[in-house]
Amino acid sequence: MSTFDYDLFVIGGGSGGVRAARIASSDHGAKVAMAEEFRMGGTCVIRGCVPKKLMVFAAGHGAAIDEAAAYGWQVEKGRFDWRAFRTRLDGELRRLESIYTRNAEAAGVTIFHQRATVADPHTVRLADGRLITTRHILVATGGTPFVPEPYADLGAMTSNEIFLMDRLPGSMLVLGGGFIACEMAGILQGLGVAVTLMYRGTQILRGFDSDLQGHVAAALMQQGLNLEVNTDLTALERLPDGRFRASDTQGRVREFDTVLFATGRRPNVDGLGLAEAGVNLGDGGAVIVDDYSQTNIPSIFAVGDVTDRIQLTPVAIREGHAFADTVFGGTPIKPDHTMVASAVFTRPEAGTVGLTEEQARAEGPVEIYMASFNPMQTSFIKAETKALMKLVVCAKTRKVLGCHIVAPGAGELIQLAGVILKMGATKDDFDRTMAVHPTMTEELVLLRKPTRTA
Ligand code: NDP
Repeated sequence: MSTFDYDLFVIGGGSGGVRAARIASSDHGAKVAMAEEFRMGGTCVIRGCVPKKLMVFAAGHGAAIDEAAAYGWQVEKGRFDWRAFRTRLDGELRRLESIYTRNAEAAGVTIFHQRATVADPHTVRLADGRLITTRHILVATGGTPFVPEPYADLGAMTSNEIFLMDRLPGSMLVLGGGFIACEMAGILQGLGVAVTLMYRGTQILRGFDSDLQGHVAAALMQQGLNLEVNTDLTALERLPDGRFRASDTQGRVREFDTVLFATGRRPNVDGLGLAEAGVNLGDGGAVIVDDYSQTNIPSIFAVGDVTDRIQLTPVAIREGHAFADTVFGGTPIKPDHTMVASAVFTRPEAGTVGLTEEQARAEGPVEIYMASFNPMQTSFIKAETKALMKLVVCAKTRKVLGCHIVAPGAGELIQLAGVILKMGATKDDFDRTMAVHPTMTEELVLLRKPTRTA
């Protein structure tokens, strides 16, 4: 008989928290409660992956109309109706939110729709003042957009607000060069906004393979987006009409209807009571955990973006599941953070898994097999969007260490490449595989000679 109100209290109803709560309750019979202060589903469902992907589809339809015309269809392209899209989007997010709530409740999880903080290693305090005791606490509060200090109070947008716009702006400055900056810049340009993407470094998507970076940058510019690298803000002011005046390191002063900061996300730990409970926090507030997602306080665990391991939804889900199996199922499971494939939903998409050429070179001799070409679908209409198929191969073992794709549907393709690389496929396995013709990915099994070795 437990002396606690619950076996597990999960703070945060996002991807990682919901998975952990459901598995602990339905698979392992734990008595579980969860608190969510905003909307069930978390960043991924409410203001991240899901609404973003729907916007990717919306922008893609605009491009498809142009393509259809070039193929011979008699079509006329009107303006994008943001309000119509938003109405439908709001409805879809409400539907998904209620599914998340229903599924958690059906699994036996009690949901408190309010903020919860850690009062001590076995007690959670709800916003309404109630104190709830629990054998274990799981912190799954995710991340929150970071806006650099001098600009934090200007009312510029972050990815939290982008899906709530009343109407599309005429012009937009996007700051940053990571996942969100590239995806949002591409989407909004595709919806008819004049986008300037300003990045302080030499090339967008820092940390990605350099050929992938170059292909994505070229594709963004091909769409008409104004990409400015090696450039940073020196000042930003809000004008009386609500627009923004931006000064930059190139000496330009320009006005934009709106500004989006896509300058990273920080662990969402403010005011949670973790430090006071003795939990060790790292840089930027990340909850420090071991391989089993346990903090230095034995009853407190953390999964997902709040731990700043890999900020991706499927990773948070795996961590949440492994936590539940470990703590309540009696099967210690370490979530595997190696060979995690991911995709950047630009147009075309970029998919990546394994080592970049630069990382692999640092480890030993490599062979690079690469094809950069104009795919059939777009070369037919003389559009200049280049696809990339690239394999990074260990020169000694012939093992494929990395795969990088820029092409329509690269997000779907890289999922399968992820399985293949996880299995330890060699270049010879690729060579033995018959091509599927005519496709873009057949290039991956037809790359006979290395483009370069080192
Ligand atoms: P990223 O870490 O990917 O990128 C942040 C960008 O902001 C970098 O280009 C960084 O520059 C720049 N930056 C940081 N601080 C400043 C500053 N003070 N001034 C100017 N520029 C700055 O973060 P995102 O916000 O794009 O995304 C957060 C995470 O969410 C990602 O890491 C990813 O894991 C996840 N995500 C995944 C998606 C997917 O799977 N498709 C989609 C969206 C998000 P620098 O490179 O110089 O540091």
